[in-house]
Amino acid sequence: MNAKRWSSTHAGSTPAENRHGALLATALEYAARGWAVFPLTPGSKRPATPRHPAAECDHTDPWCRREHTGWEQRATTDPDRITRAWTARPYGIGIACGPSGLLVIDTDTPKPGAATAPGEDTLAALTAAHGRTEGLPATWTTRTPSGGVHRYYTTAHLPTPLGNTAGRLGALIDTRGQGGYVVAPPTTTDAGRYEVTAQIEATPLPAWLVQRLTPRPVEPSGVRELRPVTDRSAYLRAVLAKEAEHVREAPEGGRNHALFLAARCLGEFVAGGSLSEGEAAGVLLDACTAHYGKPANDPKRPPFTEAEAYKTIRSGIRRGATKPRTAA
Ligand SMILES: [Zn+2]
Repeated sequence: MNAKRWSSTHAGSTPAENRHGALLATALEYAARGWAVFPLTPGSKRPATPRHPAAECDHTDPWCRREHTGWEQRATTDPDRITRAWTARPYGIGIACGPSGLLVIDTDTPKPGAATAPGEDTLAALTAAHGRTEGLPATWTTRTPSGGVHRYYTTAHLPTPLGNTAGRLGALIDTRGQGGYVVAPPTTTDAGRYEVTAQIEATPLPAWLVQRLTPRPVEPSGVRELRPVTDRSAYLRAVLAKEAEHVREAPEGGRNHALFLAARCLGEFVAGGSLSEGEAAGVLLDACTAHYGKPANDPKRPPFTEAEAYKTIRSGIRRGATKPRTAA
């Protein structure tokens, strides 16, 4: 592909030229994965353009003729634009998480002498508290110069994008989604170099994290508020438990159908206002856990994944929405 051709024919012979070549080649590789990149001012973590905040836009920047255009809108997967930008200067690489369909979990290390636990420890404890003793699913991971860790999870399967959070999952744990970006390897800033530590495909964000990171829906005025979980009727709790059990116990050949029927049933309660779509999907995705990675009956089909489960759940919930039901 482009990146390889460029790096083999244009790589220079000095370390600086090699670093420059590696930045361009890697920016193109990210773009080929569908990750939208944009240039960072060399040596810093700041976007190279625009050079002005939205409030000070005078519309003289060619990108801002009609309206102010920020780094997120300028981020691209277009190899020509990337080649032009990174041939001009050895820019650092920013990845715009939202347009890339990524949610990056960013853990940091405490300042020397601070009493706060490292973000990694808090994240591990949180993961274990959700019953995931095996830890978070392995995914594309990088390390920052300050010892921080960036785990890249895919969110393209979610109905609505997740935004950024700071400390919602715990101290020294941030997440970057829509409206956020990460500095990507092999960018070097004054603080040091960003490096890939797990060069594997980015995997879907686990369902329990989707739930934790999904903002509570804002109900338009006049619409009854969702009941808090503690208020939930015994009837609805029983429905959730029964549907989750149907999914868990489904035989391999019937799991997708069982999942659809369960989602359709919960979709009726979602439409009736007793349950949020995120909660319904979360319960069902959790129930699917045992099925993930198991081969389909047909050996030619790939193993069952969370993304596939989510697709079935969404279509079931949509079907259920045609028959609203309430749990008294
Ligand atoms: Zn502007």
